[in-house]
Amino acid sequence: SEEMLVRSEKLSVIGQLAAGVAHEIRNPLTALKGFTQLLRNKYEKQSHYFDIMANEIDRINLIVNEFMTLAKPHFSQFSIAQLEPIMQSVISILETQAILLNVEITVKLDRPLPSIYCNENQLKQVFLNVIKNAIEAMPDGGRVEITVDAAEDGFIRIRINDGGPGIPEGLIKKIGEPFLTTKEKGTGLGLMISTRIIEAHQGTLQLRSVLKEGTTVEIKLPVQEKMIETNACACDARHSK
Ligand code: ADP
Ligand code: MG
Repeated sequence: SEEMLVRSEKLSVIGQLAAGVAHEIRNPLTALKGFTQLLRNKYEKQSHYFDIMANEIDRINLIVNEFMTLAKPHFSQFSIAQLEPIMQSVISILETQAILLNVEITVKLDRPLPSIYCNENQLKQVFLNVIKNAIEAMPDGGRVEITVDAAEDGFIRIRINDGGPGIPEGLIKKIGEPFLTTKEKGTGLGLMISTRIIEAHQGTLQLRSVLKEGTTVEIKLPVQEKMIETNACACDARHSK
């Protein structure tokens, strides 16, 4: 409808602005990081100062990136895709970090999986956030188990399980509030943004946690046919971006 079009145009203006600002911030940051590394080599005795600077630059980058995903209109760049390559690309990004922390990532996947109708980059962001949380929950190593089922109710079910300390009951209710973090270097934005993205896909994201045993994040995404059926109107707006 017309109203929908106006709304999606507005969103795309905001999204473009946000993406533009993020781009403008990231370019100078890249230069800063480069010269920080150069100076680090030159002033070896003070190298830890430069490490701190580099870390802080990474942190700004992280926050800018997370906000960019959120600000981007959910309507754009939806397409029919397969979950497996999306998941694999995220795992390959995280593999080095996992090996360093002695974490093994395993994937158990139903084949064939039905296609999904999704924004690939945003889904990658979600899996990146959630799997990273799982890795970070096990600083002494362990295993992250990813299970993907082609469930029969029209949804694909993805479970990401870790053997970390779990989340205390008092905290679990608040999770998803912006800036809520228990990590020294956390942003507290990951799960809030992930939940928003999954909701924009007509799916759900739930946390289950048992103290001293671990945490499971369950994500359900509608298969392609169901998504297009239940959301025909919004899909039109997406295509007309
Ligand atoms: P961040 O990772 O930057 O702290 P998130 O939104 O991703 O932000 O997570 C918020 C908080 O939820 C974390 O700081 C942590 O306390 C808790 N949390 C999330 N995932 C897990 C997990 N797998 N195990 C234990 N705690 C978790
Ligand atoms: Mg996180």
